Amino acid sequence: MTAGIAPQPGIMEIKLYEGGKATVDGVKDVVKLSSNENPFGPSETAQEAIRRAAHAVHRYPSTDHSGLRKAIAETHNLDADNIICGVGSDEIITFLCQAFAGPRDEVLFTEHGFSMYRISAHAAGATPVEAKEHERVTDVDALLAACTENTKLVFIANPNNPTGTMIGSNEVGRLAAGLPKGALLVLDGAYAEYVNRFDGGAGLVESRDNVFMTRTFSKIYGLGGLRIGWGYGPKRIIDILNRVRGPFNLSTVALDAAEAAVRDQAYVEKCRTENARMRGWMAEALAELGVPSDTSCANFVLARFHDPEEAGACDEFLKSRGLIVRRVAGYGLPDCLRITVGDESACRRVVAAVRAFKEQRP
Ligand SMILES: *Cc1c(COP(=O)(O)O)cnc(C)c1O
Repeated sequence: MTAGIAPQPGIMEIKLYEGGKATVDGVKDVVKLSSNENPFGPSETAQEAIRRAAHAVHRYPSTDHSGLRKAIAETHNLDADNIICGVGSDEIITFLCQAFAGPRDEVLFTEHGFSMYRISAHAAGATPVEAKEHERVTDVDALLAACTENTKLVFIANPNNPTGTMIGSNEVGRLAAGLPKGALLVLDGAYAEYVNRFDGGAGLVESRDNVFMTRTFSKIYGLGGLRIGWGYGPKRIIDILNRVRGPFNLSTVALDAAEAAVRDQAYVEKCRTENARMRGWMAEALAELGVPSDTSCANFVLARFHDPEEAGACDEFLKSRGLIVRRVAGYGLPDCLRITVGDESACRRVVAAVRAFKEQRP
């Protein structure tokens, strides 16, 4: 390292985030099922908003995001003053760690939790702490037992990625009620829209002062490429986060697309229904082939193989047939593959390939 020039504590602990692969050398006609993207893309109205926004990109974007916050608030029946928008929910996670955790503070999350929690904790100089899950499900007792007086943030994704499992509102409420003073519970609702009539935890945010919710436009809204997320929490927390937020963090194109997307709930409903149909079909078909999974509440299935060797071999086999899924050894699940629910033809290709894989195994 250049003499004397050194990064802040924690930075060198960060292991670079690995995104889902998108290509396979020498294979045409690949289907990417490695990043939990909506196979149908964004709604027509969102695409139209993007085209329209192109004409005005010489102007700086809104700094307060009032149009998008109002659209989100009206759609979900929330208070727009309690909403903050970010460059993906990743940026909201970053703001939370930057604002509430530093050296000697602890950021708690679950064993198979989303990798950005650890990365953002390190980036803030805080100490990441992992609590065991119970059979790939968030364990509230383990989280409460792992709390100390230094715990500042507790992240759970509900439904969780990469497990696809979720816990009920009573359990989430028990977690919020049991946290030490000075700790904020963050409910990551990246997959909340895939659960019918689920508020992602918004009700709990409103009934307590130590709960915050994050949401994203990257999953069911099909806008991952534009990077838009939002957070909902007590006004006092929102005020703090707005101090570390850059004034122009979201582009005009992103803001307009998200506003159109959130107002098109008919499209969301259609995607949720189709996802549930194909998820159920794929999970059942895989189980019949000897590849079980936990009941998923999200847009992917965590397929369990006999051992890491079989999971790796199946991953290679799928890849050779142009099907890119996600290995999740880095999440402590070496015997599993996370498979995004694609459209019907993609799901059928996955099942056919896993069947062929199983048949050619001795
Ligand atoms: C995909 C995902 C996100 C979304 O991140 P963005 O920055 O909004 O794209 C957040 N949390 C979890 C658990 C996810 O799987």
